[in-house]
Amino acid sequence: MLVSLKNLLSEAERGNYAVIAPDFPTLEVADALLRCAEQHNAPLALSFSPSLKPYAGVTDFAHFIRMVREMAVQANIPVALHLDHAYRMEDIEEAIRLGFTSVMMDASTEPWEVNVERTRQVVELAHPLGISVEAELGHVASSGRYLTADSQQGWLTDPQEAAEFVQLTGIDALAVAIGTVHGLYAGEPNLDFERLKNIRERVSVPLVLHGSSGTGEQKLRRCVEMGIRKINVYSDLMKAIIQSARGLLADSEADPLDF
Ligand SMILES: [Zn+2]
Repeated sequence: MLVSLKNLLSEAERGNYAVIAPDFPTLEVADALLRCAEQHNAPLALSFSPSLKPYAGVTDFAHFIRMVREMAVQANIPVALHLDHAYRMEDIEEAIRLGFTSVMMDASTEPWEVNVERTRQVVELAHPLGISVEAELGHVASSGRYLTADSQQGWLTDPQEAAEFVQLTGIDALAVAIGTVHGLYAGEPNLDFERLKNIRERVSVPLVLHGSSGTGEQKLRRCVEMGIRKINVYSDLMKAIIQSARGLLADSEADPLDF
């Protein structure tokens, strides 16, 4: 069944757990994620990033999303259909038209005023329609940055600013930068748990961890214990798909349809 992200995450808050939020580039991946979540009887934040559009393998994007949405409606677990990392208002408006139940406005590389303003605009557009909004403060960078304690500080979420940002924008979920990275880590993940604790104490909305792939179960569990309510993964999912495809390719008896 299709639900809003706000509902999904408030349930997670009550139950003290986090909802997994993987991105689906294709129909097959969306289907696999839904089946897997059903098998585990787990809620799912089924996410699509506009950057994946060229890989969806369809000429009609609207039709593609309508199909995935219908799959989410039919699922016997709660599913939020979430637009991940939208940088442009056009993508947000399109997602709202197509029936996404939540959107993320990512203006995290912009100055504070721009991030507040853009996020507030999205909230004004989405909330009257019952659509939840996530935004990011601080910036979760890509590919191995943030690994040394000195270089990461400027990019990480400031707890006091986080509280102010949530108040000014009215968002439903806040993505925080505490040391995870998008893509692959260049070394051991170096998470700032003290910062997470301070954010959690000041911010009332559910917190989101981006760049969770490769972080390791122990650290992720600690994040959840400390209040993370949504875990975004992509690289780990791609790794599993590649491994599985390699296995099938190496097997001369394999059915091409399975591939
Ligand atoms: Zn992300």
